[in-house]
Amino acid sequence: MDSKEVIQQNRDYTLFSWSVQSQANPIHIAGGKGAYFFDGDGNHWLDFSSQLININVGHQHPKVLEAIKKQVDELCFAAPAFASKPRGELGKRLAEVTGLAKSFFTLGGSEANENAIKIARLYTGRDKIITRYRSYHGATMGSMTASGDPRRWAVEPGIPGVVRAFDPYCYRCPFGKQPDWCHRECVSHIEEIIQMEGPHTIAAILVEGITGSNGLLVPPDDYYPKLRALCDKYGILLIDDEVMSGFGRTGTYLATQHYGIQPDIVTCAKGLTSGYMPLGAVIVSEKIAQHFENTMLWGGLTYSSHPVSCAAAIANLDVYEEERIFDNVNSLGHHLGQRLEAMKAKFDCVGDVRYIGLFSVIELVRNKETREPLAPFNGSSPEMQKLAAYLKSKYIYAFVRFNMVWVCPPLVISQEDLDKGLDVYEEALALVD
Ligand code: PLP
Repeated sequence: MDSKEVIQQNRDYTLFSWSVQSQANPIHIAGGKGAYFFDGDGNHWLDFSSQLININVGHQHPKVLEAIKKQVDELCFAAPAFASKPRGELGKRLAEVTGLAKSFFTLGGSEANENAIKIARLYTGRDKIITRYRSYHGATMGSMTASGDPRRWAVEPGIPGVVRAFDPYCYRCPFGKQPDWCHRECVSHIEEIIQMEGPHTIAAILVEGITGSNGLLVPPDDYYPKLRALCDKYGILLIDDEVMSGFGRTGTYLATQHYGIQPDIVTCAKGLTSGYMPLGAVIVSEKIAQHFENTMLWGGLTYSSHPVSCAAAIANLDVYEEERIFDNVNSLGHHLGQRLEAMKAKFDCVGDVRYIGLFSVIELVRNKETREPLAPFNGSSPEMQKLAAYLKSKYIYAFVRFNMVWVCPPLVISQEDLDKGLDVYEEALALVD
């Protein structure tokens, strides 16, 4: 079967997610190594999006592959009511790296957020969840409702009890302020929301550690300490969705670790196994874990805590440590930041660049002064399409959404490959400048 036939069969018999089917234009991915994947025609693509910002240790890492094969030979399945060696070992590892107590395993990030909401409601006896507008928490009913961005519209009214707040989006501050002279209205207005909704009704504030697919919103340094204090003041749980920002993407296990705070619940997936097997986790604090000692935890699926997924995650964590992946993220992240700042200085169309570790975005504008976006919110434009098409024509795989283009390569990328991709980004920016 040649590549064309593979694509045709996919189109004939399967539905593509997040797509108008007649417009879906998939690449046939046939293999990969490190920062590259290979298409069915033998082209090597530099994966500047780490697939869905998840294949953190790179494509086809031999250590993770070996662990999966070994686990398949030993024990392929255990129902979630059973104990298994990889399940316990992974739980211990996650407690160590997050400072939390116990993990509830899921199949991915959406289901992790779904369960985090349920756990927060069961634990507090309260209903409401505060989330932010520029957020994405998943595509199941609850997690999609909890998301703030337009992807949630498809399921509305969705689950009850979700209340939304504005984001720490300093480049386009919803309060018309600047971080060096504001009063952190992005936090204080949440307190007003809490008071107006009734503090006794709010179970949790659910936020992405660093907002990912809504444009890399890196908050001011005191944002999280203030949000943590707000949660403590009203007995509200802080749920930290680290599905995209966690597990090395920013150079730490959790993005919130940069800010010295401890969430009550962490959700994760993606970089937990680097995508080698489906797995997510809801990691809870000691006090929440204790609560479920004598009360029922309602939930769990047939494939929860799948031993092969847990084994893949353990090997993935071993790779992080043995190959000192965070060191690479921190040093290349510094270099990436410098190159992005240089692009901002060089191109009129670059309004803002935001980055932390190997998690970054370029925000494009028509006019630097007015900050008019190069494509409308929730839309596209000929310029953004041109930029995306150029990157594709050079076999750079990139995530482009609205007026933004992301730079999120696998965490094992070399500086040479990073620069190679960034040079092509510069050529693409020159085309729309
Ligand atoms: N939360 C965040 C922050 C995400 O970026 C995503 C996916 O992109 C999810 C949750 C959903 O995770 P999954 O696709 O594994 O269900």
